[in-house]
Amino acid sequence: MSRDSIRAKLGHDTIKVDSEKHIKVKQEICATCKEKYCLYVCPAQVYKLNNQGQIELDLDACLECGTCRIACVKKAIDWNYPRGSFGIQLKFG
Ligand code: SF4
Repeated sequence: MSRDSIRAKLGHDTIKVDSEKHIKVKQEICATCKEKYCLYVCPAQVYKLNNQGQIELDLDACLECGTCRIACVKKAIDWNYPRGSFGIQLKFG
């Protein structure tokens, strides 16, 4: 499936962004991780490297699939669902 068709399908979903971050990374552990699988497995491309080589998260796009939590071999991700009424609402629009 192409990335464009994935984006089109995701366009039916709505995300109510929580001001409280529901996923946090432990930067001191990420700094020791060579693989950084989080950059490749997230279907929403939430994880990015900044200019200092640190992991940054754009949680506004998170689909709450949990893939990053499983993929992180260093257990550096503190993962929770967003607070009640926040987060993804599937198949709206
Ligand atoms: Fe990406 Fe899924 Fe992790 Fe959200 S839960 S950051 S969509 S891999």
